[in-house]
Parts: sequence; C-alpha cells; structure tokens
Amino acid sequence: MISVAIDGPAGAGKSTIARAAAAQLGFIYVDTGALYRSIGLFAVQKKIDFAQKNDIIALLGQIDVELTFVDGEQRVLLCGEDVSDEIRSPEVSMAASVVSAIPEVRSFLFDLQKDMAKHNNVVMDGRDIGTVVLPKAQVKIFLTASPEVRAKRRCLELEQKGERVSYEDVLADIRQRDYNDTHREIAPLKQAEDAVLVDTSELTLEESVQTLTGLIRSRLERE
Ligand code: C5P
Repeated sequence: MISVAIDGPAGAGKSTIARAAAAQLGFIYVDTGALYRSIGLFAVQKKIDFAQKNDIIALLGQIDVELTFVDGEQRVLLCGEDVSDEIRSPEVSMAASVVSAIPEVRSFLFDLQKDMAKHNNVVMDGRDIGTVVLPKAQVKIFLTASPEVRAKRRCLELEQKGERVSYEDVLADIRQRDYNDTHREIAPLKQAEDAVLVDTSELTLEESVQTLTGLIRSRLERE
C-alpha cells in the first residue's frame, strides 16, 4: 500500500489540496481532523467543561467514531450519525484543538487511522501523520501558508457557507490553534525530518494542487 502523509497548520488548504491530489492519484483521501472534530463535537454536545481533562477522557467510552466513503467522499459517523457538516463550526474547531492535546484521545483514534492506511492507498492529512501515525509513509509533505493568508481563506470558506465571521476573530482563532497544536506535549505539529515543505501563501489552489501532485508523482517514481 502507498501512503502520502500531509501535515500542516489549520487553513493551509490541506484538505482541499489533498482531496484533489488523492482524486488525481486514485487514492482515498483521509481527513484525520474530522476524527478529532467529532470528539470535540461530542464534548460540546455533552456540555463538558473543557478545562476538565478527565471529564473528556471519561466520555471516550461512550464514543464510537467511524469513517465511511460515499462516492469517494469521506463522511464521519459519530455513534452512527453522520456529523460531517456539523463538525465544521468554529466552536467545534476550537473544541477539537483542545481535545486533541489529550493523549488518551490521540491513542483512541490511532488504530482507526493506521487501519485506513493498512488497507488502502491513502493521502492522509493531519498534524502528526508523517511524524507519528505513518512514519513510514512513502511521501511526506508539510503544507503551510502565512496565518494572514490562512485566515482570509477560512473567512471566505465560512462566508460561502453563509456564516458571518470577522477576519480578526478568524485570525485570532488560527493563531490560538497554531499555538495549541505546536505547543502540546503529545504529537505536536512539526515538520517531519524527511518531509518536503510547501508554502501555498503565494499559490492559487490550482497551482498548489499541481505542485503537490507533481511532487507526489516524482517521489513515487523514485520508490
Ligand atoms: O485539520 P482540522 O483543522 O480539521 O483539525 C482540527 C483539529 O484537530 C486541529 O486543530 C488539531 O488540533 C487536531 N488534529 C490533530 N491531529 C491530527 C488532525 C487534527 O491534533 N492528525
């Protein structure tokens, strides 16, 4: 099986770019952020106090997360319910960032991610795919962009869904999540030593997809 690991901060365009690259390669696209988001959503639904780590850990026994693919598109099922759209709100983004710093949450989701790559050719995106989940991935890419560019993109995305957001709030959110993701003790966001760095700040979406698929193909030809 072939694994392409794509890591990077929130809003670097990872999901859109990785999805397009996977489609071109005929691989399954796995968005691991959706898994952390579904745990975050569950905690929000249960009105958990996010400062109480143990309360979040205690929830895990009640949680069943599954990934399914409908027409090649990943859907995440939380206790049997499709929550793929619900997990995209800013509230759930922040909840995901908090729960993802808990080691028990990460190990809870580890096997599910490993299994996907064991049975399928995957393009998997996240924060620790190249470093922790798939350290032997044939291709590793660290995709980034400046916080300001990422905030602008995220605003546009949310506005297109009809959500009203302020650029300043989105930028502050992104900075906070970057801080959380890079400073947590377990599996912090960092570039794997053998990952190729791609900065999409100055690239259009199309150029980013081209760059990525070109890179993946040339790496795979060398394998
Ligand atoms: O990628 P996305 O923004 O959907 O991820 C939501 C949150 O889940 C991130 O802010 C990050 O804290 C966490 N995450 C993680 N490890 C992954 C994927 C996501 O910690 N592999």
